[in-house]
Amino acid sequence: MKNKHKLIYIISSAVTAAALLALVGVFIFYDRDSSTQITDPPKAKKLEVVTMSVTTPPPPPPTTPLPTPPTTPPSQGSIGVNLPPSSNVDPTKPMIALTFDDGPSGQTLRILDALEKHGGRATFFVTGERIEEGESTIKKIASLDCEVAGHSWTHSELTLISSDNIRKELLNTNKAIEEIVGFAPNFYRPPYGSVDENVKDISQELGLAIINWSVDSNDWRTRNSNSVYNTVMYGAHDKGIILSHDLYDFTASAFELVIPELIEQGYQLVTVSELIYYSEKDFKAGELYHSGLE
Ligand SMILES: [Zn+2]
Repeated sequence: MKNKHKLIYIISSAVTAAALLALVGVFIFYDRDSSTQITDPPKAKKLEVVTMSVTTPPPPPPTTPLPTPPTTPPSQGSIGVNLPPSSNVDPTKPMIALTFDDGPSGQTLRILDALEKHGGRATFFVTGERIEEGESTIKKIASLDCEVAGHSWTHSELTLISSDNIRKELLNTNKAIEEIVGFAPNFYRPPYGSVDENVKDISQELGLAIINWSVDSNDWRTRNSNSVYNTVMYGAHDKGIILSHDLYDFTASAFELVIPELIEQGYQLVTVSELIYYSEKDFKAGELYHSGLE
């Protein structure tokens, strides 16, 4: 009797266990099924996007950052930098980018001597048609950790020429620079600072940021070294970009005084790449900049 009772107990326990297992199985299955339904929305979302893209024109592509050259360190800006920043830049101290357009010329060497003597760097926006003749000067610029970038090939006003010619002006100059210094710059300065939407669109297509200035020395207008000196010293500001031309003796004379004076006032004389690197601004291809300030 006792054994029979035990047998019944075992059988009923087994039946109960089997029933429970089946029930759990159903729940797990149901749960998996319902969890699939819960995590399914992405699929539905994808379908929605596909449907939308059929009826709605695609949004404009985001600004494409320039591919960073292999020798370039990580940058805070989208376009990256042409050259690694000098190790002696202190990001907490004021900095200023001296820029010289329309060279190279014999005056470029005087400015380079002053930079070398006092410990500073600058950026030279060269015109393509002067590159071949000025090759040794461009090599000297690069050897002093200064920077070379393009200023068009023929100094044409880019807003007045065809899109194809804008591309030629910018690309040919960059190619000639690359043949000498080993890389194509990722920014340029348009002649006369002239920019319109078409120039910006083409610059974006070519991966180039557009760099103008925050302080114009007006050297070509005043043609006087005292005036150039006073204009630059009066306008100097942290993360500013100064425009001058390394074509004139009065400009070179002014900068033989400006360079030590700015350093004396606590400014670090940096390249445009260094200004981009230490700016909180996000430098992008196809956009126009006047300084490293927000
Ligand atoms: Zn110019």
